[in-house]
Amino acid sequence: MQAIILLGPPGAGKGTVAEALEKTSGYIHVSTGDMLREAVKEGLPVGLEARSYMEKGELVPDDVIIGIVKERLARGPDDARYMFDGFPRTINQARLLDEVLESGGGRVSHVFLLEVPREVLVDRLSGRRICRNCGAVYHIRNIPPKVPGKCDICGGELYQRPDDRPETVLNRLEVFEKETASLVDYYDRKGLVRRIDAAHDREGTVAEITKYLMAGGSE
Ligand code: ADP
Ligand code: ZN
Repeated sequence: MQAIILLGPPGAGKGTVAEALEKTSGYIHVSTGDMLREAVKEGLPVGLEARSYMEKGELVPDDVIIGIVKERLARGPDDARYMFDGFPRTINQARLLDEVLESGGGRVSHVFLLEVPREVLVDRLSGRRICRNCGAVYHIRNIPPKVPGKCDICGGELYQRPDDRPETVLNRLEVFEKETASLVDYYDRKGLVRRIDAAHDREGTVAEITKYLMAGGSE
């Protein structure tokens, strides 16, 4: 089992970049945020537990996250290559991931840190809209759907995530600075962090990450 990690603040574009990379790279996209939203939608116990944290922009407790990730990894083939988006978010989660990978003889090969100035993040998050049906991501100005409020791919209704409302967006950015930014040190010490300028178009970001993946190894 091998893994790469997309690390970066909310709004850095981890999800859209991951979607594009999944098609070309063979890495399986695992988004804990998507898994949690799915659990909320289906009314699963995990979803009930996670919901109040998510709506406030707080981190969901580690034991819940670790539970869903373990379950997800147990389903995949042993030689799967994963691309994590939104996970790990705490040192605790990072340690657990290392343990799980090592027990299967694998490891994290790259950590891509998507860097974006704060003003851009706020604009991206507050303008983001998502298809209720297929999960495709739009932005009211930067990636507008052809028909306002409707998904280009499936015609589904577009909605705003409750945590993309302005009052929650600022809290999420703060939580990232406080909790998740220390992960950069954790992985920097292992020499795994590749800093990517993710302030511009998605294609540029994807191309830069692909360059590292094609180069192979971890350097
Ligand atoms: P973003 O990165 O844009 O904030 P996500 O979809 O990754 O969006 O996460 C949405 C919310 O789900 C987070 O604010 C948090 O409440 C919860 N969440 C997702 N992944 C994790 C995680 N690994 N640890 C703790 N909470 C998480
Ligand atoms: Zn759709």
